[in-house]
Amino acid sequence: MITILGSGVAGLTTATELMRRGHAVRVIDPAGAPGPHGCSWWAGGMLAPFCEGEISAPEIVARGQIAADWWQAAGAEVHRTGTLVVTLARDRGELDRFARRTEEHVTLDRDGIAGLEPLLAERYDRALFFPGEAHVTPRRALATLRDRLIAQGVTFTQEGTPEGTVVDCRGLAARDRLPGLRGVRGEMAVLRAPDVTLSRPIRLLHPRFPLYIVPRGDGVFMLGATQIEAGGRGPARLRSVVELLNAAYALHPAFAEAEVLELGADARPAFADNIPRAFRQDGRIHVNGLFRHGFLMSPALALAAADLIEENA
Ligand SMILES: Cc1cc2nc3c(=O)[nH]c(=O)nc-3n(C[C@H](O)[C@H](O)[C@H](O)COP(=O)(O)OP(=O)(O)OC[C@H]3O[C@@H](n4cnc5c(N)ncnc54)[C@H](O)[C@@H]3O)c2cc1C
Repeated sequence: MITILGSGVAGLTTATELMRRGHAVRVIDPAGAPGPHGCSWWAGGMLAPFCEGEISAPEIVARGQIAADWWQAAGAEVHRTGTLVVTLARDRGELDRFARRTEEHVTLDRDGIAGLEPLLAERYDRALFFPGEAHVTPRRALATLRDRLIAQGVTFTQEGTPEGTVVDCRGLAARDRLPGLRGVRGEMAVLRAPDVTLSRPIRLLHPRFPLYIVPRGDGVFMLGATQIEAGGRGPARLRSVVELLNAAYALHPAFAEAEVLELGADARPAFADNIPRAFRQDGRIHVNGLFRHGFLMSPALALAAADLIEENA
């Protein structure tokens, strides 16, 4: 028996991978079903290994490339629409810098942008397109994994004594055993903007307020995300919300009339080097430090955690 502590994206992907390999699994999470108590609830769900290469270690780029296929095989709806990266004319240097630091992109002119996102061709004459990137809707993807696990016989309980091998996927709550773990605050907003017709994740490069927008369908968009060291958990702060909404308006004024459906925030669990890992320590396997790469990196970590368990069997 393998007991997984935590049913955020780390716990559910690890449980899915272990079930796929024929192990008996149970999951304990005092909060019950996925919800606003965990970091995974607020994520954009971008599976964007190449864009993340701008600020991330090469292993994030390399290991993140399995994510879209893994999520699809696990039953999640994966949108393989690529990512479009733009910048305001005055920040053109940002686009050049981003292009130098990343791979697997093509440069588009206004006509190229019009072919993908006609709304943006009015305002932008140059963009980078990353065709190999994808995204999921996190809350739906988590529900899909959980429902499938339950259908396969995995029990989810809110309390209980861990049995057998313990895989600790408690996110930031694992700081009691992993003192090196820190929280990096992220804030997000959800808007309904029926006049905005964007069909793929858009990143607006900005020296102070970088923004991404992920379409959720039916005119709904997720806006993210701030990245604040030592910001703690708790509700979104006014300054962050102002910056996010200003950046959306700067991306395109069609957002001006958007309804603000939701504001959210949590602290991303991260190690000092911001690299997620699965490792054995003090009799447990830990899957943690997912930082801003929870949906991108959890498949690779789930594979690594399952390998660790099988090495010791
Ligand atoms: C605004 C924002 C946007 C983001 N966007 C993206 C994105 O686009 N792409 C991406 O890949 N990542 C993104 N991330 C990062 C991603 O959300 C995190 O890396 C990921 O959710 C961390 O998952 P986790 O399972 O480790 O932690 P959590 O989701 O926090 O899950 C931990 C779980 O452990 C449970 N728990 C707590 N205590 C115990 C206990 N004692 N026993 C058992 N269970 C316990 C909690 O209830 C919780 O359900 C974003 C994060 C934020 C905040």
